[in-house]
Amino acid sequence: TMRADILGVKVDRESMAETVLKIRKAVEEQRPIQVVTANPELIYATGRDVRLKQLINSAEVVTPDGVGVVWAAKRLGHPVAERVTGIDLIEALFPIAAEQAWGVFFLGSQPGVAEKAAEKVAEKHPGFRWQAAHGYFSREEEPALLEQIREFKPDLLLIGLGAPRQEFWMFSHLDLNTVSIGVGGSFDALAG
Ligand code: UDP
Repeated sequence: TMRADILGVKVDRESMAETVLKIRKAVEEQRPIQVVTANPELIYATGRDVRLKQLINSAEVVTPDGVGVVWAAKRLGHPVAERVTGIDLIEALFPIAAEQAWGVFFLGSQPGVAEKAAEKVAEKHPGFRWQAAHGYFSREEEPALLEQIREFKPDLLLIGLGAPRQEFWMFSHLDLNTVSIGVGGSFDALAG
């Protein structure tokens, strides 16, 4: 299906269920893909940053994350199936991760928050491996973080560094070779 075009950002029109299936397939085929949850702030930010727009448009999955995005898509004549937020998306993926014994890396938020989020999720959906790291690492600490992720070999890398930092980070580290999803402040919500 053709993507909806919102200010030059191409947004998927698929439902949550279809999006989940697409991501599941990528994990099963060990095909590294980037998943962008496009909220209005992120789309707006592309107006000042052509490179950001190009990065988003190169992502395999770009979900409409927000009622404003869903509304705009409809107004522009390319209605999307429904709103697909980062938190809803990962909540739908956790049961699959548990059932399939995936490895999930939680990267982002203040120290302790990603661990707390992972623990809570693992309690509810036991069966997946996980590791976590906070999102306030320095340039000097980054190589060790990258090494930790590489060694863990996640099936799913959840990146909660806030938009658009998480998108830039995701596309700067394509060599991590995994399915990556920008999830904004989701860990705060899951831990809270
Ligand atoms: N964050 C981070 N590192 C940073 C800046 C932000 O890990 O250098 C985290 C922050 O703690 C929060 C998330 O990124 O958990 C951003 O959440 P917010 O709701 O502001 O972003 P959005 O969901 O709108 O992308």
